[in-house]
Amino acid sequence: MPETVILGAGIQGATLALAAIARGQRPILIDRDDAPAGASVNSYGIIHGGLRYLQSFSIGRWRQSRRAQAWYIDRYPRHVRPLRCVMPLYRGAIRSPALFAAARVADRTLRVACGQECPLPDDGKYSRQQVLDGYAVPAMDLVGGAFWHDAELTDAPALLAHMLAQVEQRGGVLLRATEAIALAEQAGQLQGVHVRDRTSGQEQRLATGQLFDCRGAWSGFDPGEGAGRAARPSAAILAYNLLLDIPAPHGVDAYALSPRHGRGRSYFFRKVKGGTLVGTFYRPAPGATQAAPEPRDIDAALRQIRLCLPHLDLDAGSIRAVHAGLLPDRDGSGRQFDMRDRHLQPGPRGYHLLVGGKLTTAPLLSEAVADRIWPAQPAGSATKARAHYA
Ligand SMILES: Cc1cc2nc3c(=O)[nH]c(=O)nc-3n(C[C@H](O)[C@H](O)[C@H](O)COP(=O)(O)OP(=O)(O)OC[C@H]3O[C@@H](n4cnc5c(N)ncnc54)[C@H](O)[C@@H]3O)c2cc1C
Repeated sequence: MPETVILGAGIQGATLALAAIARGQRPILIDRDDAPAGASVNSYGIIHGGLRYLQSFSIGRWRQSRRAQAWYIDRYPRHVRPLRCVMPLYRGAIRSPALFAAARVADRTLRVACGQECPLPDDGKYSRQQVLDGYAVPAMDLVGGAFWHDAELTDAPALLAHMLAQVEQRGGVLLRATEAIALAEQAGQLQGVHVRDRTSGQEQRLATGQLFDCRGAWSGFDPGEGAGRAARPSAAILAYNLLLDIPAPHGVDAYALSPRHGRGRSYFFRKVKGGTLVGTFYRPAPGATQAAPEPRDIDAALRQIRLCLPHLDLDAGSIRAVHAGLLPDRDGSGRQFDMRDRHLQPGPRGYHLLVGGKLTTAPLLSEAVADRIWPAQPAGSATKARAHYA
């Protein structure tokens, strides 16, 4: 049986490795870094669901994200917990109490219709005074607040470290500081992957007939790297969050605030270890290979935050950290997200590319791919993991 090799030990690669192991495989999981450094550990850390997708009538995504919330909470209750979020509501604004009430009814009706258990506490509303007691939001025209629950990662690096430890405990192999540099193929059939040990600089060929590319923004190979048709999917959206030294919301875990109160885009303000995490901010970054926000990006974010909370005394000195990553887009311009979770086979036979748009749904994509590749594999029939170097 050919070895299974997975590139990228972010959430996509880690969950695929676990799904493969659960189906009797012993995968080899490779990452170029010593410690996780990709989008998964720099994300905002919300496992989205429910109301968010009902706003845009995306029933498919609503269903997927509810399943994903249950997936995380069932398996990793120490690292994933309910997050109570409040959105202030303003008179005359689009996001009104009536709209939220309708969304809540739709959420419950769909749950019953789909037979979907919700692993999170119920939604509800806050009075005007409760909202004002919770955070210093602008008071004019404020009529109250809506609250709902998403799920949050309490510590993304710790969750990922836990998953990777599980991969090793259950018989997988984790190769760190090992960079994939090119594919090896013959007559349209994958033969392996060339890797470089980043400590010694030594290059070798790791023979495999089945390779899963889960390198997030770095997925895919250039044609010159042996992949032929395996074009690199575009990841031209820079996404970033600011960890700020500002007061955290009282009584709830997070506030969703808009620069135009009750209208337009909203940003989350979440209480985390070390401060208040604010985001997520985006800008097109065509051609970028590294997630590196510039001073103008930080200024733009601070301007938005000041509009959300005008009473706040905020300047660049309030920033404790910036977390950033690159996200998939539709056409390389960075103007439109590509939220599709995709399993592509664009290169030689045996080469698989997994492209996911969200931490939330990454495990579902991994489970779906694993079901397709290793259907009804009886447990315990795995071959032992061996690295073949040629
Ligand atoms: C700022 C920000 C906020 C976000 N907020 C949320 C959120 O709240 N909720 C949500 O659901 N999603 C969110 N996302 C999206 C989510 O983080 C990503 O969709 C998800 O983490 C992608 O996971 P991944 O495993 O595909 O990629 P990554 O986590 O980037 O992992 C890719 C791995 O591949 C490795 N790698 C790269 N090149 C090589 C190579 N040549 N050889 C070997 N290894 C290599 C990297 O070191 C890395 O560990 C956010 C993203 C960002 C950037």
